[in-house]
Amino acid sequence: MSQGLHLHGIEKTYANGYRVLRGVQLRVPERRLTTLLGPSGCGKSTLLRLVAGLEVPDAGQIFFRGEDLTQRPADQRDMSLVFQSYALFPYLSVQDNVRYGLKVQGMPAAAQAERSAQVIGLLGLGGLEDRLPHELSGGQQQRTALARALALQPALVLLDEPLSNLDANLRRHIREDIRQLQQRLGLTVLYVTHDHAEAMSVSDQVVVMQEGRVVQIGSPRDIYEQPQTEFVARFMGDSTVFEAHCDGAGQVTLGPLTIDAGQGLRQGAVQVVVRPQAWRIEPAGTQGLAGKVLRSAYLGRTVEMWVQTALGSLLVISDLTGRRHEAGAPVSLFLSRKGVSVLLPTSVSTPQTVPVFQSRRQP
Ligand code: ADP
Repeated sequence: MSQGLHLHGIEKTYANGYRVLRGVQLRVPERRLTTLLGPSGCGKSTLLRLVAGLEVPDAGQIFFRGEDLTQRPADQRDMSLVFQSYALFPYLSVQDNVRYGLKVQGMPAAAQAERSAQVIGLLGLGGLEDRLPHELSGGQQQRTALARALALQPALVLLDEPLSNLDANLRRHIREDIRQLQQRLGLTVLYVTHDHAEAMSVSDQVVVMQEGRVVQIGSPRDIYEQPQTEFVARFMGDSTVFEAHCDGAGQVTLGPLTIDAGQGLRQGAVQVVVRPQAWRIEPAGTQGLAGKVLRSAYLGRTVEMWVQTALGSLLVISDLTGRRHEAGAPVSLFLSRKGVSVLLPTSVSTPQTVPVFQSRRQP
């Protein structure tokens, strides 16, 4: 039997004529956490609602564990959806909120009590069983919503921006809790967020969406280090994109630096995406890209520097192993192997990328 969730050619246009999903193709593996990541309005929640059965696609199919669920009602899908607004029953205690779904399923009272005690413990809500939602903090309310979803032991957990109503500190705690629980219980989770840092920190697999399409799927590291389009590179934050030229031998010239992009590229215009960690900064010499440090900030684990160069003002992030370069210092920049990608000028629908394995200094 085919495992996991498979979406094939999903199309959806709302009644007002807005085409929200365009040929979405996607596989969500079991016992892993997959995030749908993209800017607000790109269709993430619509896709999640389709998986949950709250919307029906105009075309395409949804398979789970080999079964076609496309037309199956939401209550027969063995999935639980947790929204950003916790949607707890305001007049029911924590315990009764958690037991609600079990009761609807007809589970005997003793088993309900046992199951709810178990998930209440798992989510650190012990001692709060008799409180009403308005007597809980935002974080406790969100934990209760998660407990209610997990009590049903669904085959697939769907989380729609589960942290967006929480402050920064709590977001971090709860996302760590979600990740730990997912790993400990081996849950299959599909998680919607517009926050790239959140996606990077919780995911096994990240699905980047843009205007109703899937534009890249990969591990957090793949997506960050080898973005396939300029959109993905910029959306994942902290990148500089240069327009450059590739010669017939796969050599891309960036000012005085040459990047060996291999044989996969044809001669012509390319874009080079550089993460700030990819720059290696050294005292000024005769090689590399000459620059002058404009600002330098010590951030504990890293140093961030803005360096003025002939290619513009560049953000350079280095770890603390190297020498510190103060504002005003003349420096030379080189590119290291990781964090550099060469892109063909692309359209959204035909991403192509050539990973860079080597960068060289020009003599
Ligand atoms: P995301 O979760 O990525 O922010 P959504 O799936 O919520 O995106 O929405 C995608 C687009 O579809 C938005 O522009 C939104 O305004 C529009 N949309 C959502 N629901 C409806 C609806 N019921 N009718 C018409 N347009 C909708």
